[in-house]
Amino acid sequence: MDSYIERVAAANALAITPFTRHLKRLSGSTLRFLNAAPSPELVATLARLTDTPESALHELTLSRYEVVPKIHNHHRYAARAASAKGWFSLIRTQACPACVGEGQPWASYWRLPWVTACLKHGCLLITRCPGCRVKLRSTRLQGLRAGGFTPLCGNPRATGRVPQCEDDLGTTALTLAGQPVLVQQQVVLAALRGSTVFCHGEPVTGTEYLRRARSIAVLLFHTVAISTATGLPAWAQQVRAEAQARTKERGPRWGVSAPDCPQSRAAVFLIAHQILTGSVGAGRGSLDAWLDLVPPSNEGTRAWAEDHTTTPDAISYLIG
Ligand SMILES: [Zn+2]
Ligand SMILES: [Zn+2]
Repeated sequence: MDSYIERVAAANALAITPFTRHLKRLSGSTLRFLNAAPSPELVATLARLTDTPESALHELTLSRYEVVPKIHNHHRYAARAASAKGWFSLIRTQACPACVGEGQPWASYWRLPWVTACLKHGCLLITRCPGCRVKLRSTRLQGLRAGGFTPLCGNPRATGRVPQCEDDLGTTALTLAGQPVLVQQQVVLAALRGSTVFCHGEPVTGTEYLRRARSIAVLLFHTVAISTATGLPAWAQQVRAEAQARTKERGPRWGVSAPDCPQSRAAVFLIAHQILTGSVGAGRGSLDAWLDLVPPSNEGTRAWAEDHTTTPDAISYLIG
């Protein structure tokens, strides 16, 4: 939705700040939850101004995905609660640098941690601007960038001569994703669109696949972060480094906020996908081998695992 509004403004030669002020005045509402669950008044106004059906505008928001819990726009704290349950962020997005460079719209699903790669360009997404190192679209206007729809980063700068970061995201070097990651990402996109996915040879809803994949991924993030084992793969070392950086007050809550690094998420989702698409026995064996890395505790591995994942019921058949 942020990208759509930026494009509407650009097509009409309007600057973002006055255009959004106009939108708010006309609709009598705010930009709250713009990309997840914008107010019905704002959507109606935008639909009228752009002569676009409201249903088409809803398709630009996270509310279209079944795996994202319902958010009530009028409840101030609703999004925080939903985002804890639903594993998305209102304030950050990923992007494919090549898509941005081509002037493509920013996809709504780039905001979901399950999505790690671009199928069109075969590369991993990025989460931070290589120039300012800040998360993409970290603006105060719900992701809208003051500079509007350009390939430039547009993150506000605390200091410096130019008010926004002018790093051209379109020139970012691409990190190619391996073929297995791209195949897994095809399944994720199909699951988000509501397709059936086969888990262990049985059809399940796309949402159920995403729920199980998240559950396994969160468990593996906790496992490698707590393990003292050496010789773990690069993605695990990266998760550990991120865990250390995030463990200021309490342990990292991977189930609320997924690791930033797309490489780590891509690697873990691939493992989860292999567990979910092979036989139950093989999946159990694979998960067990990971859980062997958890230092022994009084509660036992199974209880530890159930405490360190989301929706434990979704994957309990795979544990121990
Ligand atoms: Zn792309
Ligand atoms: Zn930047």
